[in-house]
Amino acid sequence: MHAYNRDRFLAEESSGLQVLLVEDSEGDADLCRHYLEEGFGTRITILHATRVETAETLMRNHTVDVVLLDLGLPDSKGVATVAAIRSFAPDIPIVVLTGNRDAELGIQVIREHAQDFCAKQDLNATLLMHSIRHAIERHRLQTQYSRVLETSPDGVVVLSKDGTVLFANQMACTLLDLDPINSVGLPLPKKLRSSGNSEVTLSGQQVVEVRSVDVDWNSAPAALIVYRDITSRKRAELRLKELVQFDQLTGLASRTYFFDYLARQISSVDRKKYLLAMLFIDLDRFKYVNDTMGHDSGDELLCQVAKRLKSSVREEDFLARLGGDEFALILPSFSSPQEIAHVAEKLIHRFEAPFEVHGAEVTIGLSIGIATYPGSGTGVKALYRAADTAMYRAKEQGTNHFQFYADHMQDSVLNRIRIEQAVRKEVADDRFWFAFQPLVSAGDGATVGMEALIRWPEDSTLCLGPEEFIPVVEHIGLIGQVGRKVLRSAAAMAKVAMELTNVPVRVSVNVSMRQLYENHLGAEVEKVLKEFGLPADCLELELTESSIMGDPERAQRTLEEVRALGVTVAIDDFGTGYSSLSYLRRLPVDVLKIDQSFVQDIGHNQETEAILHSLVGLAHALKLKVVAEGVESQIQRDFLTDAGCDILQGFHICRPGTPAQITNWLRDHPPAL
Ligand code: C2E
Ligand code: CA
Ligand code: CA
Repeated sequence: MHAYNRDRFLAEESSGLQVLLVEDSEGDADLCRHYLEEGFGTRITILHATRVETAETLMRNHTVDVVLLDLGLPDSKGVATVAAIRSFAPDIPIVVLTGNRDAELGIQVIREHAQDFCAKQDLNATLLMHSIRHAIERHRLQTQYSRVLETSPDGVVVLSKDGTVLFANQMACTLLDLDPINSVGLPLPKKLRSSGNSEVTLSGQQVVEVRSVDVDWNSAPAALIVYRDITSRKRAELRLKELVQFDQLTGLASRTYFFDYLARQISSVDRKKYLLAMLFIDLDRFKYVNDTMGHDSGDELLCQVAKRLKSSVREEDFLARLGGDEFALILPSFSSPQEIAHVAEKLIHRFEAPFEVHGAEVTIGLSIGIATYPGSGTGVKALYRAADTAMYRAKEQGTNHFQFYADHMQDSVLNRIRIEQAVRKEVADDRFWFAFQPLVSAGDGATVGMEALIRWPEDSTLCLGPEEFIPVVEHIGLIGQVGRKVLRSAAAMAKVAMELTNVPVRVSVNVSMRQLYENHLGAEVEKVLKEFGLPADCLELELTESSIMGDPERAQRTLEEVRALGVTVAIDDFGTGYSSLSYLRRLPVDVLKIDQSFVQDIGHNQETEAILHSLVGLAHALKLKVVAEGVESQIQRDFLTDAGCDILQGFHICRPGTPAQITNWLRDHPPAL
């Protein structure tokens, strides 16, 4: 490479200046030399060449700060001479000496990247000195700009009006795959040209943002196009979109995406005037799998469920996971309700085959609610709610059912919401209270105990019985809180009764299914007994057969715990459930409460009467005490007493009353000592 030092441009004043004079005319050369020495004095060194070829050799062997160039040389003529020098000294400023004052020629030489020009006629020391300084400074600035352009992280291209490349920086060449040396003068592919702002995906999946502005390039109109690589930003955006749009576990569309899609579908239905169906799919027994087999198995099952659902629907149907074990399916077109029913039936059928989860066979069912647009509702929310409501209805019918939404369901949903809100409020305000209903000995009518029965606050806007609100309390997860209050109220009443009568009076407490499986029932009973200073025979727990059958082993363990404290256990509503009598034998219970429906049949149904007789006999054989509840008449009382029932409860004996009323009752009907 030529030995040329760029930094000398800046240091020219202090360390002297090397000028290469390329001039074949002896006279002109002398004149120039004269002016140069006059202008710069001893700080200047002059090299002289008479041909381009010699100039090249000199430049290879010497440091040159500026070239003074005549255009008419023996081996090169005119503007081409500038290009010839440029070709081996791209980085040295050039001042062209022209033979005349031709301004057009001046512009041409500048275009060929000379930095300045002077006409020989006008030449003098000052002009030459200014011209050289100007050229050096201009070159320095040009170098700086082009360095900035070259190192720019954005690709920069200057494009002529006819679409050929006039300039392309390094980044542009890399991004657009242009040849850094030969791209100038070649056309730029159409998709890379743009007016204004746009985004273009390049061959290597790179995404560039393209911005274009009009510029003047060498006095001609051109476009300056800037390409910014936004690939990583795009990727991040895409990933974010995916995270929002797709459920991470199953890969199905997410809840967000679902609502988005449904909204778009609804607006297109409006336009196309055809129907749309939404299926709300809820898994039955999923929670059980999740609880008993662990979350990993639960997740695995959900993935398999997603796969099976996906494989059961058409390509154009839209499937999403709404969360937990809830899925949704949108059928964007169908011709009849039968067709939707057919889809639902098919799904249910496909779920009859078991799944294999971590080596275990698992069978789960589906409950499907179906809503159609516009029939079931005219907005996204309305349609969703309708499908949800229908799903609840389907679930009520047992597993593997589907149900179309019907208008009247709306009322029951509103009702459910109203009740839930009211229950939440009354629990929060602790406004429930307890009535007590005495239990008497069939033989002598002496009080043997009483049952605590929860009551809704009387001044509430709604009027609900325990059979209506207890399931709601359970459903919204407040039964633990309410259950503790039942125990404490029963204990408080037992305390009052014991202080009044001087003997323990057993207060029975109804225990709901959830409470039974909440693990700490035994501990809670123990705590209450201790707190109120009561003997264990002051409390009895009542459970229904069906709640025990939910998980018999677990129920058995809890009941044994309770009985170990000395607290007795009764089976409530006996005869309505499905537990076999043989099973009864194994249950840790003390009392059988025969369901009211049997009692009601007395005098009307001989079969029931026969059953009552054998029930009592069997219970006694198992050493269980028998309570008959719902005794409303003397006839019933007599029959039950004759049949051998031990204890009676019912309106005929005493209606459930406030603690004060029952305290009075106790005064009149004291327990036998
Ligand atoms: P249950 O345990 O079978 O309670 C007996 C129900 O029969 C009570 O209804 C009682 O008022 C009613 N009853 C008593 N004698 C007669 C009668 O001679 N004829 C008629 N027709 N009915 C009679 P209630 O108080 O409405 O309670 C209904 C159910 O709500 C209870 O049935 C029980 O399952 C549940 N429950 C009540 N209190 C509680 C509680 O504190 N906790 C829980 N978990 N459930 C409760
Ligand atoms: Ca009961
Ligand atoms: Ca009962």
